[in-house]
Amino acid sequence: MKAVIVIGDGMADRPVRELGGKTPLEVAKKPSLNWVAKTGVCGVIDLIAPGVPPGSDTAHLALLGYDVFKTYTGRGALEALGSGVDIQPGDVAFRCNFATVDDNFTVVDRRAGRIETQDASELARDLKKVRLKKIQVTFKNTVQHRGILLLSGPGLSARVSDSDPHKIGKRVSEVHPLDDTVEAKRTAKIVEELLQRFHEILKNHPVNAERKKKGLFSANIVLCRGAGALPDLTTLPRQYGIQAAAINAVPLVGGVCKAAGMSLINVRGATGSYDTDIEAKADATIQAVKSHDLVLVHVKASDIASHDGKVQQKVRMIEKIDDMVGRIVKNVDMGETFVAVTADHTTSLLTREHEGDPVPVAITGPCVRTDDIEEFSERACARGGLGRMRGIDLMPTLMNFLGKTEKFGA
Ligand SMILES: [Zn+2]
Repeated sequence: MKAVIVIGDGMADRPVRELGGKTPLEVAKKPSLNWVAKTGVCGVIDLIAPGVPPGSDTAHLALLGYDVFKTYTGRGALEALGSGVDIQPGDVAFRCNFATVDDNFTVVDRRAGRIETQDASELARDLKKVRLKKIQVTFKNTVQHRGILLLSGPGLSARVSDSDPHKIGKRVSEVHPLDDTVEAKRTAKIVEELLQRFHEILKNHPVNAERKKKGLFSANIVLCRGAGALPDLTTLPRQYGIQAAAINAVPLVGGVCKAAGMSLINVRGATGSYDTDIEAKADATIQAVKSHDLVLVHVKASDIASHDGKVQQKVRMIEKIDDMVGRIVKNVDMGETFVAVTADHTTSLLTREHEGDPVPVAITGPCVRTDDIEEFSERACARGGLGRMRGIDLMPTLMNFLGKTEKFGA
């Protein structure tokens, strides 16, 4: 038996006035999602706990069966893992932005005018040359202004604050320790020194001189946030004796999956945006199921539509996810595959934020105890046979279908 988990990022929503008081899921044409609901068992999931808005990282940790309160160690390490940075126990990673500051270190642009990846790569090349005593520094730029900073060495701590003030017009924040340990104090000092040296390199860099000439924002500072250490997880292969793979286009989610021992499958055309190649993702899933027990496929743009407040775009993205699900269920052997569809959180078109409302879930496959729900939506699934479950319950539920769980007791 095999399992596929389809996750529409932020796909769940609240009723929207523009949609006649319905949610985007309720108005979208979604024959395949409805088929999963109709032939399967439905419910709603509190990813973390009722009323707690989850991040994409904590939500995915929960859906993979981890207690986030015990295992979550910050975003930076997960981003690093998902970006292909080799992070080891004891290392500390940060998510970074190239940004623009004035002479008083007031942030003028948090993304250096969304600097092109090519310019950012040239700047990063020189930042990589910085050496510190006893600490190894790795800086990797990813896409546009985004990057990862990794510190390796003895006596480090992820308990340090952000230098990113998260707002333009504010001064760059001093990195300070978040607890009283020697390690946190030392790490904060190291980061401060490092960011200062980065600034010295960047402010006079030829790439920035050229950008100024063209009237572009100068990438004269690195802002860091989300310090994190590698989470200590029992991987899915160890826990259940399975081979698992993930298909996604977002480093953060990729990092969570990798930490859980899943192999990451890169799909050409999976952009993490509205234009993502849904057919290619479906085909990669169909292919991956042949050699893995569990495949997770994640689609990002439903969440982006909500953050952007784009109602019709969200409906269209859900319809694309529906196409993907249709292609998957038509091409895998449904006689031996379970398909679960859900979201990692509610993202409200109205508030444009993640919210704590539960998300719908439907699981179809051989021998599931079907209920009388025929539609995949927030309200319909709430009446389903799975009732209301926690995010952490999904993985054992699926693994039990696969015959991979052990009896508790005699
Ligand atoms: Zn998310």
